[in-house]
Amino acid sequence: MQPEFKLVFQRCSDSLRTMTKPPSTDEIARAPALNEPPPTAKGATPVMAQYLEIKAANADSLLFFRMGDFYELFFDDAHIAAKVLGIALTKRGKHSGQDIPMAGVPVHAAQDYLHKLIAAGHKVAVCEQIEDPKEAKKRGSKAVVKRDVTRLVTPGTLTEDGLLPTASANWLTAVAPAADDSSLGLAWLDLSTGSFHLATLPTARLDAELARLAPAETLYPDNLTPDTTPLFMTLERLGGALSPLPAVLFHGGDAAERVATAFGVASADAFGELSRGELRAAAALIGYVEQTQKQAFAALKPPVRERLGTAMAIDEATRTSLDIVRSKTGDDGTTLLAAINRCVTAAGTRRLADQLSAPSTERDTIEARLDAVASFIDAQAARQTIRNSLAGLPDLSRALARVVLARAGPRDLQTIGTAIAQAEALLEHWPAATEAILLKEARAKLEARPQGLGTRLGSELADELPLFARDGGFIAEGVDADLDAARRLRDDTRKVIAGLQSTYCEQTGARSLKVKHNGLLGFFIEVPSAQAGPLQSAPDTYFHRQTMANAMRFSTQRLSELEAEIAGATGRALALELDRFHDLCEAVIAAREPLQAVADALATFDVAAGLAETAILDRHIRPIMRDDTCFSLVGGRHPVVERALKRQGGAQFVSNDCALGDEGDELGKVHVVTGPNMGGKSTYLRQNALIAVMAQAGCYVPADSATIGIVDALFSRVGAADDLARGRSTFMVEMVETAAILHQAGPKSLVILDEIGRGTATYDGLSIAWACVEHLHEQCKSRALFATHYHELTVLAERLARLENRTLSVKEWQGEVIFLHEVLPGAADRSYGLQVAKLAGLPAPVITRARAVLDHLERRVDGTDGQSDDDLFEGLPLFAAAKAPAPTAQPSDEHIEAAAKARLAELMAKADPDQMTPRQALDFVYDLAAKLRKM
Ligand code: ATP
Repeated sequence: MQPEFKLVFQRCSDSLRTMTKPPSTDEIARAPALNEPPPTAKGATPVMAQYLEIKAANADSLLFFRMGDFYELFFDDAHIAAKVLGIALTKRGKHSGQDIPMAGVPVHAAQDYLHKLIAAGHKVAVCEQIEDPKEAKKRGSKAVVKRDVTRLVTPGTLTEDGLLPTASANWLTAVAPAADDSSLGLAWLDLSTGSFHLATLPTARLDAELARLAPAETLYPDNLTPDTTPLFMTLERLGGALSPLPAVLFHGGDAAERVATAFGVASADAFGELSRGELRAAAALIGYVEQTQKQAFAALKPPVRERLGTAMAIDEATRTSLDIVRSKTGDDGTTLLAAINRCVTAAGTRRLADQLSAPSTERDTIEARLDAVASFIDAQAARQTIRNSLAGLPDLSRALARVVLARAGPRDLQTIGTAIAQAEALLEHWPAATEAILLKEARAKLEARPQGLGTRLGSELADELPLFARDGGFIAEGVDADLDAARRLRDDTRKVIAGLQSTYCEQTGARSLKVKHNGLLGFFIEVPSAQAGPLQSAPDTYFHRQTMANAMRFSTQRLSELEAEIAGATGRALALELDRFHDLCEAVIAAREPLQAVADALATFDVAAGLAETAILDRHIRPIMRDDTCFSLVGGRHPVVERALKRQGGAQFVSNDCALGDEGDELGKVHVVTGPNMGGKSTYLRQNALIAVMAQAGCYVPADSATIGIVDALFSRVGAADDLARGRSTFMVEMVETAAILHQAGPKSLVILDEIGRGTATYDGLSIAWACVEHLHEQCKSRALFATHYHELTVLAERLARLENRTLSVKEWQGEVIFLHEVLPGAADRSYGLQVAKLAGLPAPVITRARAVLDHLERRVDGTDGQSDDDLFEGLPLFAAAKAPAPTAQPSDEHIEAAAKARLAELMAKADPDQMTPRQALDFVYDLAAKLRKM
């Protein structure tokens, strides 16, 4: 970082506001304590003065102040930590006449505590001792050990496995709005893998991008005021933890220079023609990372500029309604990602999540991904072997990033060694003849792996490794002769001590004599006082050191020598190991780029092999992608609902076609979907949208056949929810989202709209729904599915050329409704709301009364009603309940059998066994069984 910017950070770090997040109960509880003025250094002890100085420079963070084996927190920080972490609040000395509150966490367990504090929305400044206490002592017995903050831990800058989500990236984003607020530069970085991206967006698209990335933390200029601007509200809603930075860090003057310096290139043009906004956002991001990591930038991959329009546009509301990689309920087991993910590595899962989050609109990219899946479908044996060798592979890219950030332990080096070995094994198993371009590229990356590094790591590292290098014992025996000698000396000296203990016992006749060790005396002899006589009578050999209640302690010349030898050997062994560790890390850093490429290639293999596995197990097929507005699915299924039904072992999912456009059609169609409540309308709408997402993400899709003209933008409004935080009622949210769709959707878009207009009075709602359908058809000209209970809308099919009606079939049996979940051409005449309400358990008198009201209303609409509304009130629920009719007779067994036979005959008549493959015949039988079960 350039000096003047370092200064700005330094000066401004005091004023950095704490990340904004909705206050937790903890935060609310601690609020009064935080309002107290910070303690001053006046009259403080030297250590406390040092603490206060460092704390003042990191006022927005909790300070983990290293003291020996603990990180201690003082004053308000101690209160917060005690509350959030559930640890004891103690005190240490006094400041300004008051006890100093203190709470501490052991260094070896710090990670878990950090996790909790970060999750509760705090930043933590980790302050280490940066010199050996012995060095400090040389300056005088009262000298304070030098300390400094070595790292600021924030939600967007995590690198430790224990702190990170495994299945998703951990994005830190920076937003640099243009002066007129019409556009902005966006930079996003995953420090745990080094991935760095840039884009320029119209400000209106920020919602969609942040909803896609779901950043852990977002940086923005602190002059972005007032806090009520739409841009700021977007950040608050979707930006994760917010970290305002001094606006000067977003200034464009020398942003290009700062970016170039950080990546060690002569000019930022090396990364393409970056816009001013992109450079400003990137520069701010780099500055923040430098500030928080106190590190150089070796860990970052060169920035990749993302062009708008290369990915399917999916706005926030659509993403929320489709549960693509995150679910609105927080249960990630119900997402599309969870339903189709069979990757065996975390990096593979992250890659698949990225692909699903940003389905491509580029046919070449899609076909390349599909080709890779196809290769793995064909190469069954190789697929299994490769999946087996990838399974359990540790996270190479994250281990690599930790090595580069000097935050690695011996196990990270082992991970890298194992990954290289797996890359070699993988090359042996993969048939070199594959045509899939992605796999060829991946193979080339594996072949270009750093030669010899894997073997070196494998042979130099011991089998059992400690977590931290400082614990030693991670270099294998036989690697370094000096190290082996130092270890031998250390271990032999221990044996010598055991021998000395026997000698001293024999010499003195003290049978209970023991040689012990502590930090104060080093090695010493301890004997019960009653046996100490012989030692006391030989003071030239046994020097008296301490008298205890029941024992005496002595030392000898030899013990003192051994003490020095052991300390020397242990220290020397550790120093030699740390040198080796450093060398290995250097070798890894030197091979950073080919190693990143290996990580990338392994993820490619994992995703393609996993999707191939899913395609086979879940009967997915390769979609045919086109550049027109075709959308033709035969036998489409909802991947998540189908999986849920399979798991429950109940009914089979009923597949359905969707024909919103044929090859060569100039424009796609609008289908108005009517049908009973619970009939399957929402499921049908969503499944078609999800199939489009899957196809463009490069996955095979759950259908018998699929031809899809590439969708440029997907819009979905399914279900209703209010947004009270933004002061919007359910109906208002529905209208805002519908407005956004009608403004943006075009002929290449796919729109699914469910129950538009349901949140207001019947005629208002119907009119709005009516006008929306017309607008979609006439103005947007999009491919669209419009589900509604306003059956009146189906008349539009007579007027609008590309509008067709579809209905979800249903069977009625003696007043009961049976859902067949089959989508057929045509319109429903009713919604069977009362039957569904009855199924849901509404009290019988309510149902009876509702039926009477419905009859009355229907007759009135038909004009056949001779009664006035007064007559209706005659039959108030009270009386109707008293006269509740006898329960409807259950269908007899004969009736059920007759209906089943009739349905069976109908289905069989439609089938043509001669035209079926064995697989189709089997599917037909399953389908038949499922349908019969429902009768
Ligand atoms: P409503 O109008 O009341 O909102 P809906 O018509 O939108 O209802 P869905 O919510 O889509 O109905 O479906 C109701 C339930 O029916 C789903 O939870 C699912 O379990 C089941 N279902 C829907 N479609 C199918 C299908 N094709 N095959 C099997 N089960 C299905």
